[in-house]
Order: sequence, then C-alpha cells, then structure tokens
Amino acid sequence: MEIENLMQEIREDALSKMERRPPQDLAPSWSGEDLLYSGIGNAIFIVLPTPGCAWAISGSGGCTMCSYVSDSPLEKVEPDLLVDIFKKAIGKHEINEKTVVKIFASGSFLNPDEIPRIARDKILDILKNEKNVEEVVVESRPEYITKDVLKECCEALGNKIFEIGIGLETSNDYTRENKINKGFSKKDFEMAVNNINDTKLNCDVRAKAYIFVKPILTSEKDAIEEAVESAEYAESAGASRISFCPATIHKDTLMELLWRGGSYQPPWIWSIMEIIRRVRGSVDIPIIMDTAGFGSRRGPYNCKKCNSQLKSIIIESNLDQSIPEDLECECKEKWESEIEFSNITRSTTNLLRKK
Ligand SMILES: [Zn+2]
Repeated sequence: MEIENLMQEIREDALSKMERRPPQDLAPSWSGEDLLYSGIGNAIFIVLPTPGCAWAISGSGGCTMCSYVSDSPLEKVEPDLLVDIFKKAIGKHEINEKTVVKIFASGSFLNPDEIPRIARDKILDILKNEKNVEEVVVESRPEYITKDVLKECCEALGNKIFEIGIGLETSNDYTRENKINKGFSKKDFEMAVNNINDTKLNCDVRAKAYIFVKPILTSEKDAIEEAVESAEYAESAGASRISFCPATIHKDTLMELLWRGGSYQPPWIWSIMEIIRRVRGSVDIPIIMDTAGFGSRRGPYNCKKCNSQLKSIIIESNLDQSIPEDLECECKEKWESEIEFSNITRSTTNLLRKK
C-alpha cells in the first residue's frame, strides 16, 4: 500500500499542475503502415478526449509509469461532441483497403463513465459502415469487459474484428501490484479474456495483451525474463495478439522521479532484441513491439551509432513477424556486462534475504 500512497501524492501534484484544454484540442490522429490479422495494411490512430482514466484519477493514484491522464480534458465530454470529434478525426484520413482503426481513450473505451454508451455505439456504427475497415481496436481495463458490454459492442459493430487491448503489463502479480500499482490481478485478466472469447457472442471479438518491458525496481536481466514469461502466459490465457510496450519516461510519474534520481533506466534496445528473438520462438500469436521513444533520452537506448538502425529492424520485424537480424556494435559489450552484473546483484539479494 506504500506505493499507492506515494502515487496519490505524485498524481495530485501532476493534476494540479495541468493546464486545462478543451476536448477538441486533445484529439490527435495519425496513420501508418501496420500489421492486421489478414496481413500488412493501413492503421488509423485516433485519440478520444475523455474525463480521464478512472484508475488514474481514483484514490489509487494510478500506474507508476503512466501519465496519459494529463492528455485528458478531465471533464465530461458530451456524447454528441465526442462523436463529432471522432468523425472529424477519421475524416482527415483516407480509408484504404485493409484498414484497422485504433481508438485510444487514454483509459478504458468500455467504461461508460469515460466513453458514454451512446457515443460508443455511434462510433462503432460509423465503422461498421466503412467497408474497408477490417478491424477496430480499443483498450480497456478488465473490469469493464463484461458480457453485457461486449454484446452491445457486437450489435453496434457487426461482424468486423473487434480487438480489445488489456494492459496486463506482466504475468507476475507481485510486480503488477507493487511496482506498477495497476490494481488488478491475473484472475481479473483471465476473466475478461474468457468473456471476450465466449463463443456465444456471435461476433469476432479478440483480446490483445499489452506487456510492459522493464517496470521500476527491475533489473535489466529480470526485465527480459519477465517480458518473455508474460507473453507465453498471455498466449496460454487466450490472447490473440501481444503488444510489448518498452518503458519510456512519462512526465510527473514515479518512474520519472526514480530516473531523475539515478535509480531507473529504460531498457537497452539490445534487451528488446533479445525479447523479440525469444518470443518469436516460443509464442505463436502475432507480437508487436512498440518502438515509440526508441533512441530518445527518455526511451529505450543503446548508443548513437546503432539506435536508429535497430529501430528500423524492429519495425520491419513487426510487419513480417520475422526474427530480427543481428547487428554488431561496440555498445553491446556494455549491455552484456550489465546483464551479467544484474545476475550477481540478484543472487546477492537472495543470499541476504535467506539470512
Ligand atoms: Zn551501439
């Protein structure tokens, strides 16, 4: 519970510093190449303004690495306005053949307090009538993924693929509770995935698991092991796709505080390469590695010589699901010794714990 108290303080401080902006100004959208279930196609990303992630603004303080709530207007957005904002956003993009539309609510799309049901139904209905849209992807915490809500979504969207991304982050309940402050357990995740995979639904709903790479207070070596284990677990629990999110330092988070104090570093890109290589061998469902923030001061980093080349290799591997080609760079030795060193510190800690 200590982490929760700390998070409350950090979040209150962050929210009080926020500059309020109208919802219309908080709805960026962009597009790009992406991997669909049917192969390579086009993705349109749309951020919807909401009152903010219910977990982040609750007494819990929210997650230790996340500041998406700072991009929210923090006030109720009327359903009509929300639908209008969505229409304008999607209208800016050409909807080519083989398109996936990804909607981010900076929280839970299926929570009616964040996205009112009328707005949700209208948005899904608009997408139902776009013949080039093959998939619709949203995000939600597990507690909102109920059979009733899924049925409502199916009715509104018809038989297009509807994928719900859940921030599982890790298969380790201790890490999720004490290092991330996520506030739900593996059991909650499993219940949501079972609801999604319920054959009685009569439409094509699928679960995606988000896995966070390198939470705070985790060594480089453990971060790799935990990410690989978590992917294997997510597949066995019934997820249809996995999306890895390597840590980047968000503003006004506990992670930022530790980073500034020298007690935390985002993962090496070498570690990310290792994770991809290993899961390509042990997991059969599609696996995407988010490369946002790669090579920046606040994101996954190797050295100036190899950052961008490795980023391109990973983006390519996302699209064709291949095992990324290996690269040599002088910084690799430093990474290797850090992995070795984190092994030593871990065994020392275990030794001390035993005494
Ligand atoms: Zn390098």
